[in-house]
Amino acid sequence: MAPHVKGGVAMAMRSARDQWQGKAACRGPQSAAFFPPAYPERKDERVTREARAKSICAGCIVREECLDYAIRIREPHGIWGGLNEVERKQLMDRRAG
Ligand code: SF4
Repeated sequence: MAPHVKGGVAMAMRSARDQWQGKAACRGPQSAAFFPPAYPERKDERVTREARAKSICAGCIVREECLDYAIRIREPHGIWGGLNEVERKQLMDRRAG
């Protein structure tokens, strides 16, 4: 395949990805709630932070695309599509049967 065609496919894939990410409800300052802070986080802080992030996901119009993406790339950190890393792993295990 000619390089320019490969580039075209890559650009189309990137464009599709960017389209859902551009509609993400977590864009902006609240995005910090979706990943652990740089300092050690107490359990109650994590529970509160994740609940805040999940409440934003609950109203996000691209939740399904986001979760599919995180599962596809096996994202190891953070809240994606309303699930944390442990919940995504459990979902993948259930799907694997
Ligand atoms: S589902 Fe949650 S993490 Fe994913 S884009 Fe929407 S708000 Fe962000």
